[in-house]
Amino acid sequence: PEGERIAKAIARAGIASRRDAEALIEAGRVTLNGQVLTSPAINVTDSDRITVDGEPLPARERTRLWLLHKPRGVVTTARDPEGRQTVFDGLPEELPRVVAIGRLDINTEGLLLLTNDGGLAKVIAHPDTGWLRRYRVRAFGDVTQADLDKLKKGVTVDGMEYGPVEATLDRAQGDNVWLTLGLREGKNREVKRILEHLGLSVNRLIRVSFGPFQLGDLEVGLVEEIRTKVLKEQL
Ligand code: URA
Repeated sequence: PEGERIAKAIARAGIASRRDAEALIEAGRVTLNGQVLTSPAINVTDSDRITVDGEPLPARERTRLWLLHKPRGVVTTARDPEGRQTVFDGLPEELPRVVAIGRLDINTEGLLLLTNDGGLAKVIAHPDTGWLRRYRVRAFGDVTQADLDKLKKGVTVDGMEYGPVEATLDRAQGDNVWLTLGLREGKNREVKRILEHLGLSVNRLIRVSFGPFQLGDLEVGLVEEIRTKVLKEQL
């Protein structure tokens, strides 16, 4: 069918999450072309007129993107069932509603991209997009560059196939090694799993770049907006 679900259009306008938009519709607070809606099972296009509590839906916002230096100890989900702190809790008030592009584990630090454009987030996070993710890793254990080179062809761990990973041994520090890894998939716990496969146990994981965007010297917990001009060049 043409268009998109009305709850999605409302969510995209930044009024409410998709689920909350469905609740607004069921509560009779949304009109479509002058008629009060009773069910969210309907598609709309840009030419449809939608109101929420009598207010017309604002025009589509331009796409914006932010870098966040995610601290350790916060989750990337919007609502944590266990009530833990999330990356969205500490954001500056002037930010619109944003979503994260992919996820970092609770104890992973470093670059997380945020955007007000849910569609863009899905495209970038999708494995087919193949953006390079670069990580600095500290891991407990011993490893040689020759071992790390085995990751170049991709490995299968517990039945899960991982694509090629470029890994460099930067230095040893006591019982630990520091590595730099570059990978393109972003599968769940990918770095930890492939390094465990080599007998290493990750104890610090910092994402330093994602696609064309770098963590640079952005301080922990802070966000920085990508300038529109740069965004247009990169996306
Ligand atoms: N790989 C991991 O194991 N964890 C992350 O957070 C990201 C990549």
